[in-house]
Amino acid sequence: MAAFECLRPLKAREPHATLAGMPANFKAELVACFGQPVAENPTGAMQEAAFRALGLNWRYLTVEVPPEKLRDAMVGVRAFGMQGVNLTIPHKVSVIQHLDRIAPDAALIGAVNTVHREGDHLIGENTDGKGFLRGVRTDAGLDPKGKRVVVLGAGGAARAILAELALAGAADLLVVNRSIQRGEEMVADLASKTKVPIRFQPWPGTYAAPEDADLLVNATSIGLYPDVDSMPPVDLRAARPGLLVCDVVFNPPETPFLKAARQRGLPTLDGLAMLVYQGAIGFELWTGRKAPDAVMTEALRAALGLP
Ligand code: NDP
Repeated sequence: MAAFECLRPLKAREPHATLAGMPANFKAELVACFGQPVAENPTGAMQEAAFRALGLNWRYLTVEVPPEKLRDAMVGVRAFGMQGVNLTIPHKVSVIQHLDRIAPDAALIGAVNTVHREGDHLIGENTDGKGFLRGVRTDAGLDPKGKRVVVLGAGGAARAILAELALAGAADLLVVNRSIQRGEEMVADLASKTKVPIRFQPWPGTYAAPEDADLLVNATSIGLYPDVDSMPPVDLRAARPGLLVCDVVFNPPETPFLKAARQRGLPTLDGLAMLVYQGAIGFELWTGRKAPDAVMTEALRAALGLP
């Protein structure tokens, strides 16, 4: 009998196990992040920590893939039987042509950040907006249904957040953006596809937050490293006491915008929550297990050098 024939075969998703001190399954399940540049992407640290915490024999590879190699990389995903991938710049849109299907909200957003497998099929999802919403509900205790929301910005992050807020039944959505054409085009597109009224307002000078808003989101890149002292020009004086002020910027998570909101006594939610929860949703799609949020947050903070 060959050395390992006596070992009980494990199902693909069972954790790494041992029998009489011998590893029972040497085959790890693989997931990855494809991007360029990708070396400073901290996602792998939190996913690997989650795998370890649940005793899963899974590996997360952070892989530099140039645009002209994405097709080959996705063929590799199928050839290796990988369980899924994350996509970051510049692949979130171009990956769609290499998938078998994309989820309705990813189609609405027009971008995919997470691919998971159903049998031989690769399915595209977008977990950015869902991650944002999970943070709002879980960490801030706010249900966006019926709420009045202002989103600053009209880029990829803003679009993902707006699409999920529209699907979650927000009562009023206002987009404020510096570039009028970009803002108007995004609002017209999302409003026609969701049938939810979304308004646009240009952003010359300082934007005065309205007194009836429930949720205000900075979905611009203002405050992102190395521009850490910058703050979106927003006047919070009229804001009602319960206004939840959120920032998508996670590096650093303590942005001047959130500091200013806290100084006014307003509740806040930082960009780390969105980053952790978008990864947690990906983890759950891949493994079918509840993500260990606290473990992932701690690993991410450590990877970013945060206390
Ligand atoms: P994009 O480049 O697609 O969009 C950037 C947005 O910021 C645009 O609306 C742009 O306005 C606005 N903007 C940038 N600089 C200024 C400025 N000086 N004044 C006014 N508006 C400005 O970026 P993304 O949407 O992909 O990313 C935005 C931020 O979200 C980044 O910091 C990114 O790291 C973060 N992010 C966080 C995630 C998380 O999980 N926490 C997930 C994804 C992104 P205009 O159209 O006028 O140029």
